Amino acid sequence: MRYIMVLFILSNVLFSQDISNEWLTKAERTNFKETSRYEETIDYCLRLSKGSPFVHFTTFGKSGEDRDLPLLIVSKDKFFDPKKARLSSKAIIMIQNGIHAGEIEGKDASLMLLRDIVITKKYIHLLDSVILLVIPIYNVDGHERFGKYNRINQNGPEEMGWRTNATNLNLNRDYMKAEAPETKAFLKLFTAWLPDFFIDVHTTNGADYQYALTYSIESQENVALPVRKWINEKFLPDVLENLNRKGYPAAPYIWLKDNKDPAKGMYGGTAPPRLSNTYVPLHNRPALLIETHMLKDYRTRVNAVYEFLLTVIENINSNPSSLKHSVKLADNFTINSLENPFPIRFETTNEPDTILFLGYKTVVEKSDISGTEWVKWTDEPLNLNIPWFNKIKPTISITPPVAYIIPRQWKSVVEILKYHGVVVEKLKQPIEVQIEYFKFTNPKWQEKPYEGRHPVSFSTEKYNATNKYPSGTYIVRLNQRTNRVIINLLEPEAPDALISWGYFDTIFEQKEYAEDYVLEKLARDMLANDENLRKEFYDKLLTDSSFASNPRVRLNFFYQRSPYWDNQLNIYPIVRTMDTITTQTEIVK
Ligand SMILES: [Zn+2]
Repeated sequence: MRYIMVLFILSNVLFSQDISNEWLTKAERTNFKETSRYEETIDYCLRLSKGSPFVHFTTFGKSGEDRDLPLLIVSKDKFFDPKKARLSSKAIIMIQNGIHAGEIEGKDASLMLLRDIVITKKYIHLLDSVILLVIPIYNVDGHERFGKYNRINQNGPEEMGWRTNATNLNLNRDYMKAEAPETKAFLKLFTAWLPDFFIDVHTTNGADYQYALTYSIESQENVALPVRKWINEKFLPDVLENLNRKGYPAAPYIWLKDNKDPAKGMYGGTAPPRLSNTYVPLHNRPALLIETHMLKDYRTRVNAVYEFLLTVIENINSNPSSLKHSVKLADNFTINSLENPFPIRFETTNEPDTILFLGYKTVVEKSDISGTEWVKWTDEPLNLNIPWFNKIKPTISITPPVAYIIPRQWKSVVEILKYHGVVVEKLKQPIEVQIEYFKFTNPKWQEKPYEGRHPVSFSTEKYNATNKYPSGTYIVRLNQRTNRVIINLLEPEAPDALISWGYFDTIFEQKEYAEDYVLEKLARDMLANDENLRKEFYDKLLTDSSFASNPRVRLNFFYQRSPYWDNQLNIYPIVRTMDTITTQTEIVK
């Protein structure tokens, strides 16, 4: 009997070793020198789906270079369809890897973790209350721009992918303007599944310090209160403590004020919603940004991400309903009683928190190359309490309208709204409503392109009017789960409003010009008939020397005050209304 027992145990050990050899990832097989290419990754995903009934491998769109965008859906109940999954009591966690394809440890860590969940079944219990959506590589074209020299600051793997997609767009600045085919595919996937929790995995640049792991998770005034509370009370303290216990302490994303002197503190705060981890919270879902430290070797970074992912899934699996309940509350709150005033721009305050920073001592040397000082990090730990400038406060807030009205010809904008999951209606009859509209002055375009565009900034003036709109006009009501997304796309002063990305640049172009000899006559007629105008013109000549010295501006003074002037120039075509629109509409498909 004892003999049989020994044999049994022995064969089990051998069996598990066979399994693990057969199921080693490329990174593990190469001692973490290499990472798998696109085809090898797809092959491993297919093997996972063949090896386990709980894994479904699929694709969710095509890249610019026509590669399939891969997705693994992992569910013990085989809820591989978003409708079934969302109706279940399980929490849906989406893990996105390789948006910056050179920063690729998320892919290797995810494949290892999935294997340990569904093949070796070490963590099979994590599927009790969780459904996983794993994008092994998001920026697939960037991933296949494979080479040794793509990440100058990074310690391994030997070769890796490139930061941007094939048209040189940074996908992690594209969430709002939704220009890349990859972003459009992602938004369709995201809004269909509406995962309860989102993770995006990156590798940092920046200073040297002891942590392998840093993170960021939006949890201040820019996030709906129930979700903010869940993050700060139920999630973050538990996950950080468990990571610490496992030997992987994690710090908030580290951006030192001065690399030479960490004691001056580090920046925190928030960013505009063009990034994954600031976009997803507009949908009331917590979004965790994981940034491993680029100077740590690849094995350390992959293992650190593995532990972070594992710890997050453990936390959510242990109490999925608290997360799901918070998300649901936040959705209901957003639909029914959105914050008013609603903040759209923030700044970081000057009141820091104190944070323990595990850094290294620095040596500052004079450099004859740069002609200035050169910071070198020693391997001597330096643990300091430093100021952390993280608290944010709103700088611009708006009163949410009842609805936005979009004229028929701006269909391109409606298309973008629909990618974001916004419900857009179309008038079946004409209406007359009270509106608020914006006029822009002093528009200025950024000279150099940023993400292929020349963002425009301007001053705004708001006016009231009563306007008629024909049937076919688009209506976007603020009674939706996506209210935060809508406001951030359509309010012209929001940092990632479509207008700032250049979607409405034609409205700033003057298209008719008056001949000087025509204006000479027009000006004389206008002066003769209007005493106030006469006073305004001659006062301006006396008091405004730049006006007085510019013949064209002097003539245009009259053009702009004449009925010939284009009354649509510099006017934002999307208007706000506080009226409830009761006219019949149809939903835009
Ligand atoms: Zn990155």
